[in-house]
Amino acid sequence: MGKYSKEDIIRMVKESDVEFIRMQFTDIFGQLKNVAITASQIEKAVNNQIMIDGSSIEGFVRINESDQYLYPDLDSYTLLPWRPQQGRVARLICDVYNPDGTPFVGDPRSVLKRVLKRAADMGYSFNVGPECEFFLFQTDENGRPTTTTSDEAGYFDLGPLDHGESTRREICLALEQMGFEIEASHHEVAQGQHEIDFKYAEALTAADNIMTFKLAVKTIAQKNGLHATFMPKPVFGINGSGMHTNMSLFKDGKNVFADPDGKLGLSKEAYAFIAGLLEHVRAMTAITNPLVNSYKRLVPGYEAPCYLAWSASNRSALIRIPAARGQATRVELRCPDPSCNPYLSLAVCLAAGLDGIERGLTPPEEITDNIFAMDREEREAKGIASLPGNLNEAIKAMRADKLICDTLGSHVVGQYVAGKKKEWDAYRTYVSDWEIDRYLVIY
Ligand code: GLU
Ligand code: MG
Repeated sequence: MGKYSKEDIIRMVKESDVEFIRMQFTDIFGQLKNVAITASQIEKAVNNQIMIDGSSIEGFVRINESDQYLYPDLDSYTLLPWRPQQGRVARLICDVYNPDGTPFVGDPRSVLKRVLKRAADMGYSFNVGPECEFFLFQTDENGRPTTTTSDEAGYFDLGPLDHGESTRREICLALEQMGFEIEASHHEVAQGQHEIDFKYAEALTAADNIMTFKLAVKTIAQKNGLHATFMPKPVFGINGSGMHTNMSLFKDGKNVFADPDGKLGLSKEAYAFIAGLLEHVRAMTAITNPLVNSYKRLVPGYEAPCYLAWSASNRSALIRIPAARGQATRVELRCPDPSCNPYLSLAVCLAAGLDGIERGLTPPEEITDNIFAMDREEREAKGIASLPGNLNEAIKAMRADKLICDTLGSHVVGQYVAGKKKEWDAYRTYVSDWEIDRYLVIY
């Protein structure tokens, strides 16, 4: 039983003076889309009768089969606090369905739901706590975004150094009005960089929350004359933005990763889940790190991972086990960045971890030394492989991994690979300023 019934939604729309309802969904490249309807259409909306033309959405359907229907998740109903206080705006997050009443295979939310169903069949629910980092930049006199910041602050610094602080406070307050529980918010390492952590949730809600979070951050930054970006590496030479993903499996209300008698207080399932992630992570990277620019973050020296290893203590590893135990025991995957499609990203993470559990995989030894300080020979001697070095390598690794392709389904893989190959080719053939600076004079 959900939190809200159809009648609840219709009543709330009336009682809260709602004029518009935004019916939201996400395309396969992680862009939030919406159709706004007026309050007079709410009955149609809750009865799954709002239609969209899927052919104009990237990665969705061909023109001759373009009618699709939005099935709202009633529990996602919330008011958008930054919209007018009279004649208000609410939103509903929707699943995309075919006219014959089957879920559309290209809807990222349905991809995640399929894997969650597999987990449920094994008795598991999947909880996720993301750590979203982002930059707040100034805009120029024409309101266009720049990559400059007047902010001189660093990790955990306080105002008045931190000019983004009041914007961050406003973002947190808006999110709380939308039902988020904000656990922490702080200035990150780089100038202009921030992080806001919200409470973990079951994975589908966590993915919905990430989409809502990005919209709230961007909207409120804009209201304050700033530009918020989730681009993974907007400025060369300083930290990029990650979306470290904390994951745990629960069974019968208990965290199955915790075992006080296990090595480091972790259960057999936790180790198998880690092993599954390590087995598939090179193939998952095209999803967790989807942009050409993502791979400029995954380089040594900026607290972002590049090497396949796990550790209970060491932040240079790709997978870290934070100190908390008991119900808070979790596995933190550090490669995802906030430009990813969270539905697809959580789907491949869960599929990889479950594969580790089903096959009873064992991870390699924990790496407690700083991997960034090791040279290639040392890493090779310890059997530490690397993440893909660029988007092209990542796409190849994804296509070669049957589990990851099966998890996404052939429609998503086909559309995703085609889109990403185009992006890679556009980048590969572009002559950049770096090349001009480097070669024009000497050759
Ligand atoms: N910004 C770093 C990254 O790209 C992470 C810093 C941290 O440990 O929070 O992943
Ligand atoms: Mg951080």
